[in-house]
Amino acid sequence: MSVSKVPKKWDGEADVIVVGGGNAGLPAAITAYDKGASVIVLEVSGGMASSLAMIAGGTPFTGTDLQKAEGIKDSPDQLYKEAVKVSGGDPKLWRALADRQEEVYEWLKSIGAKPERVLLAPGHLLRRSIKFEGHGPALCKVLREAAASKKIDIRYHHRAEKLIQDPDSGRVIGITAKHEGKTKNFRAKKAVILTTGGFSQNLAIVKEFGPHFADLVSTAPKTHQGDGLKMAMAIGAGTDGLGLAVCPSMPVGAETLQFVNAGLGGGITVDKDGKRFGNEATEELGTYTEKHKICLDHDPTGLHISIADQAIRDLNPPPGKTKEPIYKANTIEDLAKQLGIDPKALKKTVDEYNSDIEKYGYDRKYGRRLLGMAWPEKPVMKLDTPPYYAVKNKICLTSMKGGLRINAKCQIVDQYGDVIPGLYAAGEIAGGLERIPHHYYTGRMTVQAFTQGRIAGDVAADEVGA
Ligand SMILES: Cc1cc2nc3c(=O)[nH]c(=O)nc-3n(C[C@H](O)[C@H](O)[C@H](O)COP(=O)(O)OP(=O)(O)OC[C@H]3O[C@@H](n4cnc5c(N)ncnc54)[C@H](O)[C@@H]3O)c2cc1C
Repeated sequence: MSVSKVPKKWDGEADVIVVGGGNAGLPAAITAYDKGASVIVLEVSGGMASSLAMIAGGTPFTGTDLQKAEGIKDSPDQLYKEAVKVSGGDPKLWRALADRQEEVYEWLKSIGAKPERVLLAPGHLLRRSIKFEGHGPALCKVLREAAASKKIDIRYHHRAEKLIQDPDSGRVIGITAKHEGKTKNFRAKKAVILTTGGFSQNLAIVKEFGPHFADLVSTAPKTHQGDGLKMAMAIGAGTDGLGLAVCPSMPVGAETLQFVNAGLGGGITVDKDGKRFGNEATEELGTYTEKHKICLDHDPTGLHISIADQAIRDLNPPPGKTKEPIYKANTIEDLAKQLGIDPKALKKTVDEYNSDIEKYGYDRKYGRRLLGMAWPEKPVMKLDTPPYYAVKNKICLTSMKGGLRINAKCQIVDQYGDVIPGLYAAGEIAGGLERIPHHYYTGRMTVQAFTQGRIAGDVAADEVGA
């Protein structure tokens, strides 16, 4: 049976049960707790298997201290208008997100997050994407420590399985979870908040909703199995935008971040024959929006190689300590040998690129004038400062984009828009922020998770309950 019966005995109870202790779950739990609700978090892993730890880009916020320091005038309204235009997503969901995110930024700072730089993210008209010190892993630590300092009850190794509904009212009053082989029943006096992330590690669901992505390697946490999606759909939850995905470049066993993505950081992208195949500093090849299509059309394996020199690497230092890149050499020819590329071919590519920039100030082959999407104010630079670096990348599936249908309060609704009482969703599990044929609004997934987590925790704590 897809829904559990009301049990005779409960193994735990709280006002609010949060399912998943990640990017959205911990903000939801802390917010509900701070409003006086008792909270239990059920987390399948032994820690925090959050994709927040893996993020490559920044998180967009408006009205930040970093924007003000640089004289950038921005507002929730500006973010709202841009986001709806780029994404085609539900204006009510974007309005709620835009209106709350400034408070979320201040809240993150108040619990220890340290903003470091403000960047221009692809698809945004203004520089508002905040890179925090220590990036994703540091943000995870900040959230974990904030939850621990409040002694929030987190039950690790509890895999939530099925929702429990009141048979008369249909209200969600609890959830079952598997722990050490046994089924445990948790009563939610006010609400259950689902924050289990996406489903890109569950091939069966990917094949059902996005069969064209099924051959791509998923880089999401293994726990992104779509558990929350399944349990909510089992009781009639609606869905929104299922079948959309983000497929960025991911390094094959090397350091990550902007240096990897040549089009962001300033390097060039070549194929297995050492040849460029487009203008790396455009929205199309420099970011996620069309890159997977371009790379896969060019080489069905999705392989593409980023090449940079020391000057580019200095502009895009990896955060914290990282291992030395796998491919590093003092000459382009030696780098090519390491990569298994014909040295003459790669040298010819780099020489042509450098010669154009030297003579004309831009690359004539693909019309590249800009250094990269992360450096919109800088002109393209020659690659002539050894040592040279390379990263082999594959097009991967980080996250599917659609999910459960929610309203602006993060309440899960059915396909007719009616609220399922006592049930909320926040973060990647929630759909509605993009619709075909529009684009991913870069960085929205982390700001979505933080912000919807805060909204859901807030509203759920105020529920009158069963
Ligand atoms: C490689 C990579 C790079 C990314 N880069 C960016 C980026 O640059 N910018 C951006 O905005 N977004 C990025 N994203 C996406 C973004 O990180 C996620 O969308 C966001 O962090 C998801 O937050 P969440 O709370 O929904 O899920 P998570 O933070 O992943 O948390 C989900 C939690 O639920 C737990 N869980 C799952 N199932 C169960 C269950 N049945 N019972 C109990 N617990 C369960 C999991 O273990 C996990 O701890 C990236 C994702 C990946 C994978």
